[in-house]
Amino acid sequence: MRYPFSEIEPKWQKYWEDKKVYETDLSKIDNKLYHLNMFIYPSGSKLHIGHWYHYGPSDSWARYKKLKGFNVFEPMGYDAFGLPAENYAIKTGIHPYDSTMQNIKDIRRQLKKMGSMYDWNAELMTCAPEYYKWNQWIFLQLYKKGLAYRKNAPVNWCPKDQTVLANEQVLADGTCERCGTVVIQKNLTQWFYKITEYAEELLEGLDKINWPEKTKLMQRNWIGKSFGAEINFDVEGSEEKIKVFTTRPDTVFGATYVVLAPEHPLVDKLTTNEFKNGVEAYRDSIKSLTEIERTSTVKEKTGVPIGANAINPVNGKEIPIWIADYALLTYGTGCVMAVPGQDERDWEFATKFKLPIIRTVEPPKDFQGDAYLGDGPAINSDFLNGLYVEDAKKKIIEWLEKNNHGAEKINYRLRDWLISRQRYWGTPIPIIHCPKCGEIPVDEKDLPVELPYKVQFKSEGASPLSSNEGFINVKCPKCRGDAKREADTMDTFMDSSWYYLRFLNPKIDSEIFDKELAEKWIPVDMYVGGAEHATMHLLYARFIHKFLRDIGLLNSDEPFARLLHQGTITNNGAKMSKSKGNVVNPDDFTAKYGADVFRLYLMFMGPYELGGDWSDKGISGTDRFVQKTYDIFTKFKDILKKITPEEIYNIENLNDDEKSLYKKVNQTIKKYDEEINNFRFNTAIAALMELLNELKNIDRCTEEIIAYTLKRFAVLLSPVAPHLGEECWNLIGNNLSLSEKPVWFETDKNALIEDSVNVAVQVNGKLRTTIEVPLNSEQAIVKRFVFAEEKVKKHIDSKKIVKEIYVKNKIYNIVVK
Ligand SMILES: [Zn+2]
Ligand SMILES: [Zn+2]
Repeated sequence: MRYPFSEIEPKWQKYWEDKKVYETDLSKIDNKLYHLNMFIYPSGSKLHIGHWYHYGPSDSWARYKKLKGFNVFEPMGYDAFGLPAENYAIKTGIHPYDSTMQNIKDIRRQLKKMGSMYDWNAELMTCAPEYYKWNQWIFLQLYKKGLAYRKNAPVNWCPKDQTVLANEQVLADGTCERCGTVVIQKNLTQWFYKITEYAEELLEGLDKINWPEKTKLMQRNWIGKSFGAEINFDVEGSEEKIKVFTTRPDTVFGATYVVLAPEHPLVDKLTTNEFKNGVEAYRDSIKSLTEIERTSTVKEKTGVPIGANAINPVNGKEIPIWIADYALLTYGTGCVMAVPGQDERDWEFATKFKLPIIRTVEPPKDFQGDAYLGDGPAINSDFLNGLYVEDAKKKIIEWLEKNNHGAEKINYRLRDWLISRQRYWGTPIPIIHCPKCGEIPVDEKDLPVELPYKVQFKSEGASPLSSNEGFINVKCPKCRGDAKREADTMDTFMDSSWYYLRFLNPKIDSEIFDKELAEKWIPVDMYVGGAEHATMHLLYARFIHKFLRDIGLLNSDEPFARLLHQGTITNNGAKMSKSKGNVVNPDDFTAKYGADVFRLYLMFMGPYELGGDWSDKGISGTDRFVQKTYDIFTKFKDILKKITPEEIYNIENLNDDEKSLYKKVNQTIKKYDEEINNFRFNTAIAALMELLNELKNIDRCTEEIIAYTLKRFAVLLSPVAPHLGEECWNLIGNNLSLSEKPVWFETDKNALIEDSVNVAVQVNGKLRTTIEVPLNSEQAIVKRFVFAEEKVKKHIDSKKIVKEIYVKNKIYNIVVK
C-alpha cells in the first residue's frame, strides 16, 4: 500500500493538538532547553522554501532534544509590523491590519501542517496593543535614563519607502536594505537610542557567547573600536580650537593640513570672507551624497580651503584648514588631521591639491607605494625619531597630556540607533509635543498609545499618523493646552529586540515579561535564524537585553547563548528568485509527497549551515525511503503486542544475520546521535538509510531482534519525519505516542566494536592461509598481517614478488617468481 500521508499527517497533527503535548511546563527547569527560531515575518500568506528550510530542520533538532529528555520550549510568533504590509495597502487598498491578520491565519495553519512542535500557547504577534505597549514602555525607561533622545541630524532617507533608515539598514553599496533604492541624506529631527553607551560591553560580551565566528566578527567591525588620541589644534587669529581624533598620534609631525566636515559648526566661524562663496558652493555639491558615497575609497577626493590656518601643536607650524566630504561629522570629532605620508586617502588628497607630504615613518628600502601604513622607525619627528609605532604612540600621548594639547582616547564606529520611521504600520512613539512645555513623555499608566485604524497611507513624506485628527490632537498632560502627538512610529527592529522574553508568558499584563520565569529560562539556549541579521536584530537585541538588565529586570548579560544560521537552498546552483522563475514552491511537493518527505529531503540535501541544491529527482529518492520504511513497519504490525524484546542482547548468542543487524542498529543510534546533535541532519538521515538497507535480511532474524530493531528505528525516524515516526511507533504496537512519552535508547557498547572478516591469502593462486582483519581494511593494513604469517613467509622467502592483488574483505593474492 502506498504510504497514505494525507490521512496520517493530519491525524497526528490533531492528536498532538488535542493532547497538548507541546505545551511546555515552564515551572520545570530541570533539563530546560529554550529553543528559539527567529519568528516569522508575515508579509505574505504562503510559507516559501526558505521558511521550510529554516523552521523544519530546526524543529527536528528540538524534537530530538525532547526525545533525549530535555524540557524543550519552542515558541512561535509573528514579527507583524513593517513596511511590506503598508506598501501592499498603498497598492491594493487592503488595510495592513486586515492583510496581516489574514496572513497570520494562513501561516499558522501551514506551520502546523509542517508537523512542528511549537507551543501555540505561547504564540504572540507584535502588532497587538498588549505587545507594543511594552515597546512604548521600554522607550519611556530609556527616555528617563537619557538613552532615548531627539536630535536634528543628517539621516539616511529612502525615497521609495519614504522613511528614514538606521545605518544598519543601509547596505555597503549605499542602497536601502529593503527595496534596493539608493539612499539619500536628509536633515531631520529624529529619535535615537543611545546604543553607543553600551559599545564596550557589546564588544566584550561577544567573547562569552557561542555564536558563529563570522557573525561575531561582523559585530566587532560594526562596533569598530579604535585606540588613539584626541589632539587640539589652535587656530591662527582665533580663540577656537580644533579637536581631532586620530588612531595614529605618532604621525602628528607629518600633519600638513587639517580637514573639517563641511557641516562642522566651526566652518562658519573660521571661513574667511574671500573663501565663503567657495565653501557654500562646495557644501551644495555634496548635499545629496550618503556617508557611504562620501567615504568611498574609489571616489575622487574633493574639497576646498576655508582660508584659515591651524597650528600644529608639536612644532608650531601653520597648516591650512580645508573642508572635504570624506570627513564626517558623525565620526570622531568631525575633524581630521591629514597625514599624507601615512594615510592613503590623505596622500591622494594632498597630491591632487598640491599640499605638502612629510613621511614620519621610514618605509622599508624596497617599499614602492605612496603612503606607508606599516611599522618602522619614526623620522622627521623630533623627539620621536627612531621609535617604532607603538612606542612612538605612547610617547606622544604622554607629551600631549603633559603639555595640555590632547589626551588618549578610544573611539567607536558604532552610532546611536535611529528609531523614528515616517510610516504607519509600527509602534507609535509615546511622546506629546506641546508648544508651551516642549516634549512630554506619555504617562506609563496611559499606555498603550494605540495605533488608530484610519489613516491616509500615502502622505508624501509626512507620517501617515498625522492624517488622523483624533489621534494626533491631544491635550498636554502638563498644562492641559492643545498639543500634538508624535506622528512617527518606531523601527520594527524594536519589536524583535525583546520578544524572546515575552514568549515565556505572552498574556502577562502587569509587567513587560514574567521576571520569575526569565530568571530561570533566559538566556535562550539555542537560537536559529538568518545570518543577514548580524548587525541589525542581533545587535539591537543584545543592547536592549543589557538595558533591561541594568534597570533590574534581568539577571543575565546576553539574550542568546548559542546561535546558528541556516544555509540557503539553491536551484541548479542558482539563487531562487521570482525574476529568474526558478522558485521551488513547497506546496507542489507537499501535496504530492507529504510534509515529512519534503522536510526529510531538505535536511538530506546538505549540511544545515551551508544549505544545498534542490533537485526534483532527489525528492523521489527520499519518497522511496519513506515508502519502504512504512512497508516494513506495516509488515510487522503489532509485533510488540506479542513480543517484548530485551534492552540488551549477548551478541555471542545471535546468529550471523541477527548479529549484523543488532550491530548496525546500535552503530546507527550512535552515529545519528552525534550527527543530529550538531545539526548535521544530512549525515543523520544517511545513517537511517543505511539501516533501512540492512533490514533486507530482517526475515532471517528472530521476532525478538525484529522488535528490538523496529522500536529503535521508529524513535530515530520521529525527529526528522515526525508523522511517520509516530505512525511507525504506533504500528508496531505502542499505546503511548512518542510525543506524550519521549523515548531514547542507549547503545550497547559491545555492539559498537568493529566487525572483522576472514581474508583468504593465496600465493600464486594457491590458498596458504586465512587471516582475520577488521572489516573494510585497506590493503596497506592487510599486507602487514599477511607478511607476518609463517605459512605465507615460507612460500615467498627468497623469491621475487611480482604482483599483489587485494580484493577488499575477501582475498589477498601474491604472485612470486
Ligand atoms: Zn527602501
Ligand atoms: Zn503643555
